[in-house]
Amino acid sequence: MQSKSRGRAAVARRAHNPKVGGSIPSLATKLRPSGPFFYCMKSGFVNIFGKPNAGKSTLLNALIGEKLAIVSPKVQTTRHRIKAFLNKPGAYQLVLSDTPGIIQPKYLLQNKMMEAVSAALEDADLAVLLVDVNDNLEELDQLFSGLKLRVPSIVVLNKIDIAANGKIKEAIAFFTGKSYCKELVKISALQQHHLLSLIDVMLKYIPEGQPFFSEEDLSDLPTRFFVSELIREKIYELFGDEIPYQTAVVVNEYAEKAQLIKIQADIIVNRESQKAIVLGDKGSMIKQLGMMARKDIEAFIGSKVFLELFIKVRPKWRDNDMHLKEYGYR
Ligand code: GDP
Ligand code: MG
Repeated sequence: MQSKSRGRAAVARRAHNPKVGGSIPSLATKLRPSGPFFYCMKSGFVNIFGKPNAGKSTLLNALIGEKLAIVSPKVQTTRHRIKAFLNKPGAYQLVLSDTPGIIQPKYLLQNKMMEAVSAALEDADLAVLLVDVNDNLEELDQLFSGLKLRVPSIVVLNKIDIAANGKIKEAIAFFTGKSYCKELVKISALQQHHLLSLIDVMLKYIPEGQPFFSEEDLSDLPTRFFVSELIREKIYELFGDEIPYQTAVVVNEYAEKAQLIKIQADIIVNRESQKAIVLGDKGSMIKQLGMMARKDIEAFIGSKVFLELFIKVRPKWRDNDMHLKEYGYR
């Protein structure tokens, strides 16, 4: 049974199941035999933590089987919490959250990102501590111990496909017995290895209950959000070190027309000089950005898209609370 004091997961659960311990059985549950072998659906919240680049977004996408979270070799691509639903109707619904990487906040945007991490800590049935197996283990130990987790957590060793010699064994020995390591699973999110074993282990910590969200949905976030994320991903792909971290994307218009979907989005930068870079020579860069983003958005939505991009200069938007709210960083 779920502890009563536990954050939003518990609140959502109580709201969903007002009769304590009672639930409205789905058709699938009704069809199952009752009695001592009665098998109930499981439903709960799993939050994925880890240092930037551990592979959190890759794992979430691999589990869901869709590209919901943007993936990049550059750190701190993920600025929001993304909730995605892993549904096996009649058996389970895991509500997975990708969180921004754990970092030291340097400016207000990063503070907001750490707030999102803290909120996630209070808000789950299970925390998955994702580790790049090639990372410095002592440093990770400090980080995980410092989280002061109030929910059960497991350590998941990722990137075993590129583990240095002996590294997997070393990591298993290192994490076994740690207080935050109830269990240890090794995977490759990129190669999609051992994901089913990971799901089995996660389910052990998930309480019985009915789904919180429609089993037909993959996420609680609107399509607009994914559109802006796909555009942001292309900015990470096309531009050098500084630009992506100085940029936000806002979708202003998302209109379904007869033959296609019209999308208008602003790319927000800090300075005129950055605008010139994003624009490129005679608009060459923004044109390429638009083409790449449109292709991915069309694949995501499954429809033809007309994409219009404008660049706007908003000095110091990352330190401006009003701008942050406007761009969706609440
Ligand atoms: P996040 O910052 O934790 O969300 O990390 P991402 O999911 O964006 O991944 C960071 C980088 O690691 C990307 O280049 C991924 O392709 C790569 N990556 C993630 N998982 C694996 C894995 O299992 N094996 C390998 N070889 N690379 C991975
Ligand atoms: Mg990420």
